Amino acid sequence: MRVAVIGGGINGVMTAWAFARRGDSVDLYEKGQLMSATSSSSSKMLHGGLRYLEHGHLGLVREALQERSWWVRQAPQFASPLQLLIPIYRQGGRAKWLVGAGIRLYDLLALGSGFPRGRWYSATEVVDRFPALRREQLLGAYGYWDAQMDDYQLGLWAAEKARQAGARLHEQTPVLRLDATTGEVSFGGSSASYDRVVNVAGPWAEKLLADSGVTSAYRLDLIRGSHIVIPGKREQGCVLQVPGEKRILFVLPLGERTLLGTTEVSQSDPDHCAPTEAEVGYLIDNYNRCFSEPIAQQDILARFAGIRPIVASKTDYSAASRESVIERQGRLLNVFGGKWTTARALAAAVLTKSQH
Ligand SMILES: Cc1cc2nc3c(=O)[nH]c(=O)nc-3n(C[C@H](O)[C@H](O)[C@H](O)COP(=O)(O)OP(=O)(O)OC[C@H]3O[C@@H](n4cnc5c(N)ncnc54)[C@H](O)[C@@H]3O)c2cc1C
Repeated sequence: MRVAVIGGGINGVMTAWAFARRGDSVDLYEKGQLMSATSSSSSKMLHGGLRYLEHGHLGLVREALQERSWWVRQAPQFASPLQLLIPIYRQGGRAKWLVGAGIRLYDLLALGSGFPRGRWYSATEVVDRFPALRREQLLGAYGYWDAQMDDYQLGLWAAEKARQAGARLHEQTPVLRLDATTGEVSFGGSSASYDRVVNVAGPWAEKLLADSGVTSAYRLDLIRGSHIVIPGKREQGCVLQVPGEKRILFVLPLGERTLLGTTEVSQSDPDHCAPTEAEVGYLIDNYNRCFSEPIAQQDILARFAGIRPIVASKTDYSAASRESVIERQGRLLNVFGGKWTTARALAAAVLTKSQH
């Protein structure tokens, strides 16, 4: 089978690798450079997503926990286990019992993954690990395990695997139009025909369809997430609960530095994606609320943003979810949403849906 994959983020790369391994002839087209968009602007966590448990997405969490282990086993040079602490205060944030129950369930879903189990740390133990953490009313913290990756390098590692399996990866090659019926893919002045065309263009997937005159049953809500990099080496991650919001913020080791994120802001144009001053202020304020060594604008070493394409059904507006959708239209397969961690599982599902 001749297969075109449009998009060179982690989902496109894993899809190209999966088809090539099956023996198909694969061309992947990327308008810029591989891993240059969302897939290198993530929080760099290979995780089940503890937070998804609150929404009852047990299947998604379980799959992601197993996939997390796969990455760590396959490419330990770019992915390794990381312990994260969730400080619990007497007032504010989720109750101790609730976080504890969540971590027990998380560990249960991760059974067989080879990761250590979560545990409770006293306030003194927590302060030993995060001396600058606010101590007033601190009860202690739950520690749990996930994995951290170098998303850019790990993505390039996967791209190399796809190449070795026979996929041809074309960078700087924007696809201008596609045809769901004939499988034709058009570039600047040329075109090529395929048995299957996989639109895995991340936040641009809907635009590509609109440019091609293809109507989908789904729409994408684009949500920007921003991070800042601040000084300070850390051995563990910390999960901060934002008062008055269901949201959490990650404080994560990033080599000799610390990564802090993220935000959630609606974005209309995926081509112009950068953190605003308001988002940077929000991150700084929340960090300073929890840590006694305050940071300011001038401490910021780097900042970046990425866009989550949240898929929603056009007929059911309450169905917004972070889970992915694969839509088949003739020779075309549209891939909407998905997480970095689960890109391999998503690619396997695309392969299944591409048959017949
Ligand atoms: C702030 C933030 C933090 C996140 N943190 C995590 C995390 O810690 N762990 C996790 O598992 N997930 C995380 N995610 C989710 C994860 O990053 C994404 O699900 C994943 O990177 C999406 O990959 P993708 O290949 O679908 O999209 P992208 O990486 O955006 O790739 C799409 C590619 O398609 C290309 N393209 C677009 N249009 C065309 C065209 N017409 N022709 C050719 N090429 C085209 C683009 O240039 C782009 O490279 C996070 C997301 C965000 C936004």
